[in-house]
Amino acid sequence: MSAADRKAPSDFIRDIVREDLRANKNDGRVVTRFPPEPNGYLHIGHAKSICINFGIALENKAGVCHLRFDDTNPSKESTEYTESIESDVRWLGFDWGSHLYYASDYFGKLYQYAVELIEDGKAYVCSLTTDEIREYRGTLTEPGKDSPYRTRSIEENLDLFERMRKGEFKAGSHVLRAKIDMASPNLNMRDPVFYRIKHESHHRTGDKWCIYPMYDFAHCLSDSIEGITHSICTLEFEDNRALYDWILDQLKVNCHPQQIEFARLNLSHTVLSKRKLLELVEGGYASGWDDPRMPTISGFLRRGYTPEAIRNFCERIGVAKSNSVVDIALLEHCIRQDLNLRAPRVMAVLRPLRVVIDNYPEGKVEQLDAENNPEDPSMGRRKIPFSRVVYIEQDDFREDPPEKFFRLTPGREVRLKHAYYVKCERVVKDKGTGQVAEVHCRYDPETRGGWSQDGRKVRGTLHWVSATHALEAEVRLYDHLFTKRDPYDVEEGFDFKANINPNSLEKLISCLVEPTLAGARPGTRYQFLRQGYFCVDSVDSRDGAPVFNRIVSLRDSWAKIERAQKKSPLGQPKP
Ligand code: ATP
Ligand code: MG
Repeated sequence: MSAADRKAPSDFIRDIVREDLRANKNDGRVVTRFPPEPNGYLHIGHAKSICINFGIALENKAGVCHLRFDDTNPSKESTEYTESIESDVRWLGFDWGSHLYYASDYFGKLYQYAVELIEDGKAYVCSLTTDEIREYRGTLTEPGKDSPYRTRSIEENLDLFERMRKGEFKAGSHVLRAKIDMASPNLNMRDPVFYRIKHESHHRTGDKWCIYPMYDFAHCLSDSIEGITHSICTLEFEDNRALYDWILDQLKVNCHPQQIEFARLNLSHTVLSKRKLLELVEGGYASGWDDPRMPTISGFLRRGYTPEAIRNFCERIGVAKSNSVVDIALLEHCIRQDLNLRAPRVMAVLRPLRVVIDNYPEGKVEQLDAENNPEDPSMGRRKIPFSRVVYIEQDDFREDPPEKFFRLTPGREVRLKHAYYVKCERVVKDKGTGQVAEVHCRYDPETRGGWSQDGRKVRGTLHWVSATHALEAEVRLYDHLFTKRDPYDVEEGFDFKANINPNSLEKLISCLVEPTLAGARPGTRYQFLRQGYFCVDSVDSRDGAPVFNRIVSLRDSWAKIERAQKKSPLGQPKP
């Protein structure tokens, strides 16, 4: 994707960047970064951040966006995660070029910075336990207390810190803390911890280090080391900004990035937190990070979403300063819009009911002509076989139809899409269950293609497959992962998992699809007429035994929500 073929969005962050460029701040450079901690797979909230950071770089001639792993916590990180993050960012359509960085590459520099702070009397080794540190910190309404170790001499601090690095102490026995202000109204400024002892191997630095910098210390300095001009982050970091500024000011670094906070994406009916998503994976609530119900990038990919739809969604939700919840229906609307234009139409019967056309010659097969996508004639046409026995959807037949049921019922004529008019003459019931087992029809040979010569109209048009030609397939229907719009809305004593939707996955194993789908490759997307968009599952499909994931149904609930909102900002329901 080049800068030229994107219509540049506009928001308060882009306004700041534009203003900085006009004032020739940062010598006219724009350097952003996407800085994930490799402790899980990326979710759609990260996609928002990726689109902002890479988007701003693409929109500016002198723009660059780094991918930097903030890999400061060896206990939770792995190369599985770094690899998935890289591939997800690429799949979304963004490219960091040669700008791939790791905070762990700066461990040496960060250590030197810490030593510099100690030498300046701005940091000290504290030997309180974790619990004591928490107690001493105070609360939002009460000031904290100075640690008894706060007055250690610079020499003693330098010696202890060096010995921490050499591995002379057990984890938890000492930490390095900033010496700022235990009475600060901003809790982040009450002598935060900068280094802790962890006798753990790091996925990149191995056993070279047994002290690791805390996120806050490493994050702002990594931005500075990389010459980031606009350090864009979510609102939760607003109160950390004072600390970042303090660190960068004490160390008199050359580059002091400007931090800009925006509202994180919250999406209805799901959770966007790696920790919570990991809980779903580890608890077996999802089959993995790429379970098609997960709001992860890899989940969306497997489900059949396109990167274009996700980017379009991120653009439509915009960038704001106040938190809100975006309805998941907007995301579904975006994928529907995209696939409407590009997915070929096919016929598939998910819950088959046998239909015998009594007056159609036995053994005869016709190849009927059908367009692949009425929205796009350039996608061509195909032939679909028709024969005496076909399957239709069980739901498309009712022996005792309710009012306004326009599909097949005894005595009624309907259209079989692309084929013929058929009229139901009788039904055959299963002797055991009494259910309709087979429907018998007559067809009108004069209605080939599904149009009558005499202008006779029918109200129902059904999809179907030919019994002898159809392929068997498994189809997986997905619903929202959580029953409530806000999964965190739980009664006391419960956690968000209480709101998991027990019916978020329905597996249908004896579905029948038209034979043109033979050999459909994993990842291929189709519209199953009248049902929705589906994608060949890339993990569980086998040769001759495809599995289809429903990406999204055809019913668009977004239009209704939008009307109800009557032009309130996108995705935000009126209070
Ligand atoms: P999580 O809570 O899911 O673990 P995180 O913020 O800890 O998220 P990071 O790996 O630190 O995850 O995130 C990388 C970047 O993505 C950060 O700049 C962060 O602000 C941004 N980000 C994370 N979640 C969202 C979200 N829901 N909306 C927008 N940006 C997000
Ligand atoms: Mg984080």
